[in-house]
Amino acid sequence: MSRIFNFSAGPCTLPLPVLEEAQAEFVDFGGAGMSLIEMSHRSKQYDAVHNEAMSLVAELLGLPSNYKVLFIGGGATMQFGMIPMNFLPKGKAADYTVTGAWAKKAYEDACKVGDVKVIWDGKDENYLNLPDPASVQVNADAAYVHITSNETIGGIQWQSFPEAGNVPMICDMSSDFMSRRVPVEKFAMIYAGAQKNAGPAGVAIAIVREDMIERCPGDLPAYLNYPIHYKKDSLYNTPPVFPIYMVGKTMKWLKGLGGLEAAEKMAADRADLIYGAMAKSGGFYSCPVPVPCRSSMNIVFRMPTEELEKEFVAVALANGMSGLKGHRSVGGCRASVYNAMPVEGAQALANLMDEFAAKNG
Ligand SMILES: *Cc1c(COP(=O)(O)O)cnc(C)c1O
Repeated sequence: MSRIFNFSAGPCTLPLPVLEEAQAEFVDFGGAGMSLIEMSHRSKQYDAVHNEAMSLVAELLGLPSNYKVLFIGGGATMQFGMIPMNFLPKGKAADYTVTGAWAKKAYEDACKVGDVKVIWDGKDENYLNLPDPASVQVNADAAYVHITSNETIGGIQWQSFPEAGNVPMICDMSSDFMSRRVPVEKFAMIYAGAQKNAGPAGVAIAIVREDMIERCPGDLPAYLNYPIHYKKDSLYNTPPVFPIYMVGKTMKWLKGLGGLEAAEKMAADRADLIYGAMAKSGGFYSCPVPVPCRSSMNIVFRMPTEELEKEFVAVALANGMSGLKGHRSVGGCRASVYNAMPVEGAQALANLMDEFAAKNG
């Protein structure tokens, strides 16, 4: 077996023990004589998988009892639409911070549903910077305020969050979910597509505070309706059983490592190695993102020419490191270093960066 270091932004690397466990029990799940994906979602076996995944997410985040973990198909993008459909009534407006490509998509979907106000826009700085959280003014009468904790494409991340007072704050944590401790009580809702830090594609994890459910109109089509998912424990219809099972395994793996505190430490170690390689390259590598808002998950870097960047990506691949090409909208290179990326992977990349700069600088 030859596994390489996969720096892809998503879907992305998953913990090897999780993959191996899933492989070992794939054909015959727990002596049932069938795989998990062949059995009823109303079976005793699946129920245990479902509930364990839900409770591990809650346990790792330290969720108070008035929050519930939901599993919803359609990825984070589905949530972009469901959030305003459920929480943005006529006569009210929602506040959005537009911090990059993902926040913009969330904002654009909300605009199709109701009144939206942009309370911060990173356009003038090319979405490479974030405001001081204390300077963000949320409108006191907003239906909710939406923020994006980590911009996967731009490589920027809120280090702390704005204050929203009594306005419910909703956060897209798709690309840094479970990578650090978060003050969950600050949020009325947290959501994330699973395929960055939590499992494979095919499910979004939505963590919703109880009182938010009372705000929903309740007459939306069933699947778009949070109260239905909430009341039915995400089992109103057939849930994406395989992704949920993998989320459960990934959470169990993370718990075994020491939970969010350990995740945060590993994230800092990986980021220090890669940003450190940039810093000591004497200007060969440059990071377009100012230090205070650099992401620990998606690390963007440039080189003196596009030819060098292309060559670096090829040399990295030849050395067992894939997925380093930057997003097509920003160019350059991007190393996505989620929870499942071992610190050794970041070390290997930093070493290669040193060598490449020494040779080409
Ligand atoms: C990947 C990503 C999304 C989109 O997730 P899908 O599951 O593909 O819909 C949304 N927000 C952020 C921050 C992301 O990184």
